[in-house]
Amino acid sequence: MSSLPLPPATDFIREAINEDLSSGRYTRVHTRFPPEPNGYLHIGHAKAICLNYGLAQAYGGKFNLRYDDTNPSKEGMEYVESIKEDVRWLGADWEDRELYASDYFVQLYAWAELLITKGLAYVCDLSADEVRAHRGTLTEPGQESPYRNRSVEENLDLFRRMRAGEFPDGSRTLRAKIDMAHPNLNLRDPVMYRILRASHHRTGDTWCIYATYDYAHGQSDSIEGITHSICTLEFEDHRPLYEWFIQAIGIYAPRQIEFARLNLTYTVMSKRKLLQLVQQGDVRGWDDPRMPTISGLRRRGFTPSAIRDFCARIGVAKRDSVVDVALLEHCLREELNRTAPRAMAVLRPVKLVLENLPEGHVETFEVQINPEEPAAGTRAVPFSRELFIERDDVREVPPPKYWRLFPGNEVRLRGAYLVRCTGVVKHPATGEIAEVRATIDPDSRGGNAPDGRKVKSTIHWVSAAHAVEAEVRLYEHLFTCPDPDQAPVGGSWHDNLNPASIEVLTGCKLEPSLAAAQLGDRYQFERLGYFCVDPDTAPGRLVFNRSVGLRDSWAKIERAQQ
Ligand code: ATP
Ligand code: MG
Repeated sequence: MSSLPLPPATDFIREAINEDLSSGRYTRVHTRFPPEPNGYLHIGHAKAICLNYGLAQAYGGKFNLRYDDTNPSKEGMEYVESIKEDVRWLGADWEDRELYASDYFVQLYAWAELLITKGLAYVCDLSADEVRAHRGTLTEPGQESPYRNRSVEENLDLFRRMRAGEFPDGSRTLRAKIDMAHPNLNLRDPVMYRILRASHHRTGDTWCIYATYDYAHGQSDSIEGITHSICTLEFEDHRPLYEWFIQAIGIYAPRQIEFARLNLTYTVMSKRKLLQLVQQGDVRGWDDPRMPTISGLRRRGFTPSAIRDFCARIGVAKRDSVVDVALLEHCLREELNRTAPRAMAVLRPVKLVLENLPEGHVETFEVQINPEEPAAGTRAVPFSRELFIERDDVREVPPPKYWRLFPGNEVRLRGAYLVRCTGVVKHPATGEIAEVRATIDPDSRGGNAPDGRKVKSTIHWVSAAHAVEAEVRLYEHLFTCPDPDQAPVGGSWHDNLNPASIEVLTGCKLEPSLAAAQLGDRYQFERLGYFCVDPDTAPGRLVFNRSVGLRDSWAKIERAQQ
């Protein structure tokens, strides 16, 4: 490997890796993504996945998927499966290395006995609360446990009996014997094992003691031969502890490098909070299109490539920051603008009758599927005497600067004809517009004025007789403010939930080419945004989600910055 040219050091992590390869500290690159299966993955995890997998690819190395499954009471198979699906969908390939910390339980236990024999670990009878109380603070040293100086024999005997199930849950722990006055609190005799009678999703009831994350994580990396253990900043203070364990046991040492976690505006990212939203029914599930989860983004219509593009653009840094969710949406919009077929859909329909066309009149327009990609060809769009148009595109009395349909005004029906409004018919009871009447200019076929006269607005339409019906779901941010953790006085982050984050429209009218839309299909509905087929779609029932609107607030931010 060292004879190959190194990839450019575009960030501090690659700089460090290049340094390690040049110095010969490592001769290969092996990374991992280590999720705890206690929730669904979110966009922050996508950043970690793209980073770790990207490094393995750039250096011709390997990438492991490793579940850090040391906490059975919060973990489960549903999460294991969803994580696998999401990592695969993002395009990261762990080959045959689907690994589990729980596969190392026997080895971790043996190393714990080794540390006891070396006089570096002891069984402590303090309760969890007492351990915490003895820990001291950043400014005061901790207090040594009265059980700290038990003999090796007594410790071994008690630890084996802990494993054998002789003691109740929480009554004893195994602790590393380091230094209760250490300036880094993580090294004040941290707990390595606790007694916990919980069924594990993989090891069942084999164990009633479980390693802590801190004891398991570094050794798991070591067992797998990970060279660069990339993790988020909150583990910086744990690094000395991981190194202490590795050294005390005397095994291969990976290098840990920390980077700043991703935060996004208008959302929460902690799994605990996302779980609460799911459990309380604030959203429809982990894959609700409003969720920042990978499965939610997938259902919302995001593509793996748009998410990878986003992760590449935000890069990695050493300092925590908040990324504007508009950038994430921008990445999708930019891709779909290039790739998504165009279609016409009317979300809030009102009927438009073209008075100077005969009853039963039908003609067909050939419309480009995607003007950004002429090779995509054209589609046939039927046109007839009765159309649906958006309710918002018609007014009986126009407000200032309103150039769409109102009696006397002329607009262009996208790709079809110029039409002039002759009047509106209103519901006698509600006063709502029930029907719009207009006449076409027969010489404007294709939407071009024969005399070159100016028409200010172009509106979309769907032939009434040919329309397919659909349900369309529109989304807004899940929270009303950019930083939902900024709780209102006397309240919590939860109070910042946006009560109007979803709007479900039924009876929408779509052009007939959309009848064949399949799960995974994405479209630009003219003038409305990008939409995708929702998995609730079934025979006789079409459901679409709006992925993003057309207005690109990120492009505006970028322009303002320049
Ligand atoms: P939470 O704090 O939301 O419970 P977590 O960080 O504990 O999540 P893990 O399953 O332990 O979740 O995370 C797996 C990996 O993903 C870790 O290496 C972690 O550093 C990384 N990760 C988690 N959240 C983010 C984020 N917001 N940005 C970047 N990486 C993240
Ligand atoms: Mg974690």
